[in-house]
Amino acid sequence: SGKALLIDGKRGSEEVLTEIAEKVRGLAGQGLKPGLAVILVGADPASQVYVGAKGKAAKAVGFHSVQHDLPATASEAEIIALIRQLNADPAIHGILLQLPLPGGADATRIIESIAPEKDVDGLHPINSGLLAIGNLSRALVPCTPAGSMILLEKAAAALGVKLEGAEAVVVGRSNLVGKPIAQLLLGRNATVTIAHSRTRDLPAVVGRADVLIAAVGRPEMIRGDWIKPGAIVIDVGINRISVPSHDPAAPAKTRLVGDVAFAECLDRAAAITPVPGGVGPMTIAMLMSNTLKAAIQIAGLKAAH
Ligand code: NDP
Repeated sequence: SGKALLIDGKRGSEEVLTEIAEKVRGLAGQGLKPGLAVILVGADPASQVYVGAKGKAAKAVGFHSVQHDLPATASEAEIIALIRQLNADPAIHGILLQLPLPGGADATRIIESIAPEKDVDGLHPINSGLLAIGNLSRALVPCTPAGSMILLEKAAAALGVKLEGAEAVVVGRSNLVGKPIAQLLLGRNATVTIAHSRTRDLPAVVGRADVLIAAVGRPEMIRGDWIKPGAIVIDVGINRISVPSHDPAAPAKTRLVGDVAFAECLDRAAAITPVPGGVGPMTIAMLMSNTLKAAIQIAGLKAAH
């Protein structure tokens, strides 16, 4: 049951990728082929899967795609030396360092060694700064926030809801997700509240939201009865939980859930992203979008010199 519109991120990502592939074909005529380099340090199985998917998507849209595997023992200096080489490589327009680094090593200095115009993850302080001052035409925006905004805009358009002047609540303030989403919402003239672990009376804050973005990392923490009727809900959370089994001999099963109690929201929200199949699939599409944007901007810079 439930009336909420389901926001289909798989379809959204396919639309973005199709559009990128068309633009890449057009650029080929001008002798420009966007190139993406992905750096994987160590052999974490989940990271290997993500990096493989990024390379595959890059090839599918017609990019030049390379993967650099470094051992888990690689030093900061070694990783930065590889990045310097890629910064100087004219065939590469996007450099992505797969995070987290092994052993949770701090990536700050490494990220800052990436040429800002090739920083397709949007994590270099120059890109955060461009986003903060509202220079969206130049900024490379972090992929998950950018993908969340595309889904939000689609849902708002489908429902005839205006983002301008809307009460938007972002739960979560990470540099990777919460903060950039809040900046993007501000750029669309929403009235933005950022909630976090020290927020008093979170249910009441969430209850004000015409637009709710959940980026917490706590399975189904946001309950259906917190949601303002008619709200648009974008659930960024991806949490793996174990499913209780009736058969004690059966292997333990797991499934993915968001930060929002999805089923409870179906009768309340006007639209909601499912998990999986919502924001998740948009992230890789936006990485391709950023790489295309970087290639065009770098080519433009060269032409201007
Ligand atoms: P972080 O752990 O970096 O940030 C979580 C944020 O949630 C923090 O700001 C924290 O507050 C806040 N928070 C934690 N507990 C509570 C609470 N009880 N009440 C209110 N706020 C709380 O996570 P990320 O931002 O990196 O990721 C958030 C979620 O998004 C995760 O589920 C992650 O898996 C998912 N994700 C999905 C992606 C995708 O779709 N491709 C990509 C990236 C992330 P404080 O700052 O005070 O500690």
